Amino acid sequence: MDSLISSAYTQALEVIGSIEPRIADATRQELADQRASLKLIASENYASPAVLLTMGTWLSDKYAEGTVGHRFYAGCQNVDTVEALAAEHARELFGAPYAYVQPHSGIDANLVAFWAILANRIESPYLQKMQAKNVNELTEADWETLRGELGNQRLLGMSLDAGGHLTHGFRPNISGKMFHQQQYGTDPETGLLDYDVVAAKAREFKPLVLVAGYSAYPRRIDFAKMREIADEVGAVLMVDMAHFAGLVAGKVFTGNENPVPFAHVTTTTTHKSLRGPRGGMVLAQEEFAADVDRGCPMVLGGPLSHVMAAKAVAFAEARTSQFQAYSQQVADNAKSLAEGFLTRDANLVTGGTDNHLVLLDVTSFGLTGRQAESALLDAGIVTNRNAVPADPNGAWYTSGVRLGTPALTTRGLGHDEFDKVAELIVEVLSNTQPGTTKAGGPSKASYVLADGVADRVKAESAELLDKHPLYPGLVLG
Ligand code: PLP
Repeated sequence: MDSLISSAYTQALEVIGSIEPRIADATRQELADQRASLKLIASENYASPAVLLTMGTWLSDKYAEGTVGHRFYAGCQNVDTVEALAAEHARELFGAPYAYVQPHSGIDANLVAFWAILANRIESPYLQKMQAKNVNELTEADWETLRGELGNQRLLGMSLDAGGHLTHGFRPNISGKMFHQQQYGTDPETGLLDYDVVAAKAREFKPLVLVAGYSAYPRRIDFAKMREIADEVGAVLMVDMAHFAGLVAGKVFTGNENPVPFAHVTTTTTHKSLRGPRGGMVLAQEEFAADVDRGCPMVLGGPLSHVMAAKAVAFAEARTSQFQAYSQQVADNAKSLAEGFLTRDANLVTGGTDNHLVLLDVTSFGLTGRQAESALLDAGIVTNRNAVPADPNGAWYTSGVRLGTPALTTRGLGHDEFDKVAELIVEVLSNTQPGTTKAGGPSKASYVLADGVADRVKAESAELLDKHPLYPGLVLG
């Protein structure tokens, strides 16, 4: 298999290079860079060659607006097979009554979910006429009323600096504009989600949509409690499991930690801990299925058939016992990473982790997140800066660095290696000083990394990485 994969990529790059050599070169270089760095971006992973190869085919060329068996284009029989299989795998993998695999990304999935919830819950005669396809009966005044009804609903989600996502009601995002929004944060002392505070806000605000899920919260959520809150105030519970879908598929998050049975609608990306192609998906209870199914034309155009095919391949991988072992290792490694920091006196938001990510507060090193991110990159450690709750440095410079274990776990790193990763990160940050602005004042962006540290850390991480090569059998000729 290794030699097949090697020759497939070698030849593909030759074909690409014959048309635009710079793209072939950048693609080769990206592999070299990914192989040579410690990738700790919590939202990234390494998809399998099978998933990657599935995306590079002529399925990409087919337009297939509509749904399985009900397309607005002729000749969609193979796309029907692909989409039906991806949806079937998704339903089985997550135990969901319904799966919609067309969204191109996580944000698309959330937009589909929002509009499906509005369509399902807003009792408007105009909306009914629209759904019944009597669109032409609506006058301009009817549309105006309908816009007012759809546009004046309420959404309650986790704030960005507590770990929520842009699409959970952040003002600059469309979700913060199409809804009246309010946000819940985390406890200022513990950094943990306080369900009583969420419930109190929900009682007061009475949202139509209660969003749970996160991009940077290092803890598990009790979705039974979130559903209880939603039910008490008559809200729809939408869970965005983009970050932790792999831990749900891998049966690390079970019972109340698995959102799928509790949420009315669950959205996800397929490329983070789930290790599939870049893309999105919506799972739903029966009651919402027909509305989600109208993702096209409601929000989306033509589905990416090649990506839906790769989703089917990734879901087939995720139902194996190997994937379950991988997911458990992702969570175990996050604990090792957290312990590695705590034993070296570093500060973690919430004091630890029980999912796949760690949020390191870098203010104790005298740095902003931006300075820490840049210094780490100099030493071959790829991370992303991230706000911490009530961040004094704002969302651009930030005070934190978010670190995730899915990618390096795919390479095979385990407990001791993640402890070493914590050691290397602490070494870089303890040897970094904030720089000064041109005017001589303190800078939030520039920094000085002590001589020799980057090279020393790179050499030590090379030892780790050489023992756990990325795509071990893949040799480009
Ligand atoms: N939802 C959450 C919780 C995320 O973390 C992200 C991406 O980081 C998204 C949605 C958006 O996903 P995409 O970048 O595929 O649009």
